[in-house]
Amino acid sequence: MTGTIAFREPDAGILARRETIIDELQALLPEDALVHEARELVPFETDAFLAYHRVPLAVCLPETTEDVARVLGYCHENGIPVVPRGAGTSLAGGAIGQEDAIILGLSRMNRILDIDLPNRAAVVQAGVTNIAISEAVAPEGFFYAPDPSSQLACTIGGNIGMNSGGAHCLKYGVTTNNLLGVKLVLVDGTVIDLGGKMLDSGSLDLLALVCGSEGQLGIITEATVRLLAKPEGARPVLFGFPSSESAGACVTDIIAAGIIPVAIEFMDKPAIEICEAFAHAGYPLDAAALLIIEVEGSEEEMEAMLGRIVTIAETHGVMAVRRSQSATEAALIWKGRKSAFGATGRIADYICMDGTVPLSQLSYVL
Ligand SMILES: Cc1cc2nc3c(=O)[nH]c(=O)nc-3n(C[C@H](O)[C@H](O)[C@H](O)COP(=O)(O)OP(=O)(O)OC[C@H]3O[C@@H](n4cnc5c(N)ncnc54)[C@H](O)[C@@H]3O)c2cc1C
Repeated sequence: MTGTIAFREPDAGILARRETIIDELQALLPEDALVHEARELVPFETDAFLAYHRVPLAVCLPETTEDVARVLGYCHENGIPVVPRGAGTSLAGGAIGQEDAIILGLSRMNRILDIDLPNRAAVVQAGVTNIAISEAVAPEGFFYAPDPSSQLACTIGGNIGMNSGGAHCLKYGVTTNNLLGVKLVLVDGTVIDLGGKMLDSGSLDLLALVCGSEGQLGIITEATVRLLAKPEGARPVLFGFPSSESAGACVTDIIAAGIIPVAIEFMDKPAIEICEAFAHAGYPLDAAALLIIEVEGSEEEMEAMLGRIVTIAETHGVMAVRRSQSATEAALIWKGRKSAFGATGRIADYICMDGTVPLSQLSYVL
């Protein structure tokens, strides 16, 4: 795949001062925190979009908010562009810097600073991976809700930059609905705190502005996120349909009936085939479309909700209903869906797009 994006001309003045800039940045950072050799810059040339490659001037790997502030202050004074980067799993080229730009990688800022269960909040450094938060609080019966499929690798800073969501956003929302506060370093190196551990803070709601701003308003070094109590149980169920339209109409009717499962995921026939061949999740290969619907709560609550969902699905000609019978089976159902991105690596004609469809138009669009 080749990109058609028009890159701006790198600043010739900055390129001419490259060696000096590297020396000056080195003086601002701990030992080994500056990457500038051609060979070492290769991993930073692109992100998960893979279509665009640009070798940045250098990569800074700060360990503290003060390091970040010093680098930003220096770059601001010298007119050098800066691009923050978490794990580089962005699918939009957002974590790539041009030849005159510094990449500020947050991967070394990967400590969980505070788990505050009475306030149901965790304070983490920006380079902490999404999954690490849930893993840290799981023994206490809590979790962090947004669950992008890249959650093993992607960082909370990147999640905030992209306002990421995942399969469970139907019930729990995306990052902005689960973010309570950030420590943000502004472009000139000023450090500010927005929000906090409480549901509301005393000043303007600038937090909402930062979430989804793709690193353009400042660099997040710490985040305070909401923790939720884990439900008693959760059960994904597979529903096979004779057409994409009937699966879409079923989703519309479930929501219109006032039922909010924790997740509803749709796959059409090519997606079912690719994922099944990759993950062997037991997806029904005779179905033209598949819904993975997850319900949660006590056994009685899950059964009651599932009963209502099955009744609606039957009005749309559902061909197969397969309930997961064990934690292993449940994990396998999700493994199939969550490895969809990797599975598409086996086919040549695939392009990733995001779309937003009004629920009432789902069947028509599908
Ligand atoms: C296999 C796969 C599956 C995916 N599934 C999902 C999914 O289900 N849902 C979803 O929403 N996305 C998904 N993504 C996209 C991607 O993982 C998310 O956008 C993720 O939030 C990016 O996190 P990152 O740490 O990799 O950030 P990066 O890619 O490094 O950066 C992303 C953006 O955030 C900015 N940024 C990074 N760190 C900071 C910081 N500390 N302060 C300010 N700005 C910062 C960057 O400049 C860039 O603009 C997927 C990607 C892959 C490869």
